[in-house]
Amino acid sequence: MLQKVSLGTKKLDKYRLVLGKKLLDEVEALASELKGLRLCHINATPFGGGVAELLSCYIPLMRGLGIQADWQVIRGNSRFFTVTKGLHNALQGARYAPIEQEKTRQAYHANNQLNSRELDPNYDVLVVNDPQPLALRHYSSDGRAKWAWRCHVDSSQPDEAAWQFLIPYVEEYDAAIFTMDKFVPPGLNKPQIAIMAPAIDPFSSKNITMRRRQCRMLLDAFGLDKDRPFILQVSRFDIWKDPFGVIEVYRLAKEEVPGLQLALVGSFAGDDPEAWEMYAAIHEDADKDEDIHVFSNLTGVGNMEVNAFQTGADVVIQKSIKEGFGLVVAEALWKGTPVVAGNAGGIPMQMAGRLSDYLVVSIEDCAQRVVHLLRHPELAEELGREGREHIKQNFLLPRLVRDELSLIKRLMG
Ligand code: UDP
Repeated sequence: MLQKVSLGTKKLDKYRLVLGKKLLDEVEALASELKGLRLCHINATPFGGGVAELLSCYIPLMRGLGIQADWQVIRGNSRFFTVTKGLHNALQGARYAPIEQEKTRQAYHANNQLNSRELDPNYDVLVVNDPQPLALRHYSSDGRAKWAWRCHVDSSQPDEAAWQFLIPYVEEYDAAIFTMDKFVPPGLNKPQIAIMAPAIDPFSSKNITMRRRQCRMLLDAFGLDKDRPFILQVSRFDIWKDPFGVIEVYRLAKEEVPGLQLALVGSFAGDDPEAWEMYAAIHEDADKDEDIHVFSNLTGVGNMEVNAFQTGADVVIQKSIKEGFGLVVAEALWKGTPVVAGNAGGIPMQMAGRLSDYLVVSIEDCAQRVVHLLRHPELAEELGREGREHIKQNFLLPRLVRDELSLIKRLMG
């Protein structure tokens, strides 16, 4: 059988400390209508990246609401995950020529078929995340369950060949979920479309409130100088997150702010074979400067440490070129830390009001905004406060639970 990720239960009541009655009552009402529903999310990795982060918070809260929620993870060898990383990149618009070859298609099919035999299908609703396990529905017997495909990336302009390969699988689903309207790829007519943005959990170890002073002390333990400014990017080691651009930004900003430090906190994910090469290349660049620090989930930087980095940073950068949503933007803003971010995909909807002036495309622009915030700490603090409020209103976990329960209710008729 496929691995079921072991998780606890979380009560909704706690969220009354931060969120209004209306939303939480809505969530409770939906959950009570669906009480006892068997729901399973499926993805390709139990750790690393936004989907794993999301499910680790979301499933326990669903359970706390009386939904029998589970999370199953598919298996695959490096050949399969190389193909699926290609498909992931292709959904974001990169050319993926190998998908035109039979052996590539075969690797994808064979793995999905194998996993479908290991899948526990005894659920009322199965939500399949991203392209890796997409064909599971095709290979699963046609029971009474409803199936939804959840696409987490910016799929507005996918590579044509790759999308033509994937589209028949998507059309077998009862619903397809995207983060934004504009991410719905061309020519997708069949399943019901639902739009819902991801969310962060204010009560996870990554997002609970930590004192800034304490965080700075902790960073000292990681080799950063707590008395000098530092900027941060937290991301998987992935080309779309533009880590080399961030290093350039740091170099430019340092000309204006001597003593500046940069921390790049990156994670490896079980389904991302490209990360090792990226990690080595980033290290090579970073090693030339003792004020650039590279950390990862393999060297002791877990959720609490990421929290401390995001809370303690003077400015967070998220210089993505393509981005489905970018949970890291919401995480930083929730901590009141100002963000300068790439004007890409789902990021702008998180950067409302004056923060929208800190959406950038070029390295120069990014460096200039970073320097401005470093030189005007009061403004940085105000923007952080405004950002936190916007995240609170729009991107905390119960809102996502409400959106998904509403969809499930519709699917169950
Ligand atoms: N993350 C982490 N450690 C790292 C790098 C990333 O815990 O070293 C987490 C990060 O805090 C966020 C998630 O991984 O919760 C990344 O999600 P995001 O939506 O920003 O990007 P994705 O990886 O899904 O493209």
